[in-house]
Amino acid sequence: MRIALFGPPGAGKGTQAEQLVRRQGLVHVSTGDLLRTAMNEETPVGKEAKEYVTAGKLVPDELVRTLAEEAIAEHQFDDFVLDGYPRTLQQAEWLTAFLDEHNAPLDAVILIDVSDEQIVERLSRRRVHKETGENYHLDFRPPPPDVHESLIIQRKDDRPEAIRQRLQVYHEETRPVISYYEDEDCFYQIDGVGSFETVYSRIEAVLEEAVPDEMAARADSE
Ligand code: AMP
Repeated sequence: MRIALFGPPGAGKGTQAEQLVRRQGLVHVSTGDLLRTAMNEETPVGKEAKEYVTAGKLVPDELVRTLAEEAIAEHQFDDFVLDGYPRTLQQAEWLTAFLDEHNAPLDAVILIDVSDEQIVERLSRRRVHKETGENYHLDFRPPPPDVHESLIIQRKDDRPEAIRQRLQVYHEETRPVISYYEDEDCFYQIDGVGSFETVYSRIEAVLEEAVPDEMAARADSE
């Protein structure tokens, strides 16, 4: 199955994508993670992306296009969950053309809906494990006590000015991508408020509808 998760920064796309990896065996393709790895490794792409990511701005389309397409091709165009891609109309058009060319259209584009106020609250309390990339929330999912505090960091783009910038970018540049998919049969919108289990069960309900045969086959093989 081929899925794209969609929604504002902090809607829980990354956490839900990780659940889909664990429970459905999908590969997680996150352009944000790919960019952070490139930045840590100081590759040419990483160096070019750094100033945009740190400021909470979108990196140029061509840069993420290459990262996303390489990752999708590497996994034979199937069983992936896209997280954070596409984020602009241009990226959505490229993605459709790329997947059509390989007879591998998306089965479900799922918008996880969360209000701006909730986003600011969630992101400013988010922390990340420096080495594993695991996400925590200081109140609702605190880091385990056995993890040394020096390993728990706040992403630079989770600081208040950058959060505001990212929300503005989302409304201006990414919401139009919703209009691009909205009339397609593969488009679904779910409420992103609730425990991560609750939100995950909403995603599974969507998948039961979008890819019933695959979900049944997976359930049988468990
Ligand atoms: P994320 O981890 O998905 O929130 O992404 C972190 C940052 O990486 C974003 O704020 C952007 O600067 C950059 N980024 C990730 N995905 C994309 C994309 N599809 N297009 C442009 N920039 C992106």
